[in-house]
Amino acid sequence: MKFCRFNDNRLGIVDVDRNEVIDVTPALDLIPPMRYPAPLGDQLMANFAEVRKKAEALAASAPRVGLEAVKFLSPVGNPTKIVNAPINYDDHISEAKADQGIAHGRTNITHISDWGLFLKATSALIGFGDEVKLRMPDRRNDHELELAVIIGKTCHKATQADALSYVAGYAMGLDMTIRGKQQTCWRKSVDTYAVCGPWMVTSDELTDPSSLDLVLKVNGETRQDSNTKYLVYSVPRLIEYATEMYTLYPGDIILTGTPAGVGPVVPGDVMNCYIEGIGARDMRVAREYA
Ligand code: MN
Repeated sequence: MKFCRFNDNRLGIVDVDRNEVIDVTPALDLIPPMRYPAPLGDQLMANFAEVRKKAEALAASAPRVGLEAVKFLSPVGNPTKIVNAPINYDDHISEAKADQGIAHGRTNITHISDWGLFLKATSALIGFGDEVKLRMPDRRNDHELELAVIIGKTCHKATQADALSYVAGYAMGLDMTIRGKQQTCWRKSVDTYAVCGPWMVTSDELTDPSSLDLVLKVNGETRQDSNTKYLVYSVPRLIEYATEMYTLYPGDIILTGTPAGVGPVVPGDVMNCYIEGIGARDMRVAREYA
């Protein structure tokens, strides 16, 4: 099943065959009211089993909206972390070694175990209904298409054997990046530089993330064309690796790394994104307006 958040914080089930979103927003009433301080984690994901049951019950008689009238938000609104895997495809490691525009003098482009994971600010998060607004247009601004994993249950010291049981679903992710020497958390946390969506495919529909094609085109020209089978650290290994250091909470997003073919975008470009089992969607690139 494909769930989305859309328009003014509405909840939807995506009917891909009919190009419609079924508006099941009243199911959000099952999320308990909160008092300060709010619990860590996205409360839609923390209460997803109950919300989903109600949403499915509502769906038969719920109003429908054509996809063209839907503005997709990120499927989760309040992750505590956007966890990112650097250098997690061998062909991206090779291009990073070869391309000084990516490497910026780094000589230790070796293996993800040498780098660990990094975080993007949650304030950078947008959905596919928004647009990426470039900051520092004089610098190289790159697209990185990545499989996004959305955590459904609090998860600490996971093992590869049980890791996928903590996953609520999957989405497409864009780890937009200003190239340069600065820390990743600085260059990759610009407002709008973390894209997730357009919807979340639940893990009972997309059961195996280990062999999914992913393709990114810019204005119709193929830039990235790979498959998640080439991940250096698989999805279960990434969950295990992340939870060696920190607890993952419901709604936390893991961007699993990007394959070769990263390259610059400029205002006016359209990134045509596709991941097998999730779907296809365009993301526009704009400039930041003062
Ligand atoms: Mn990345």
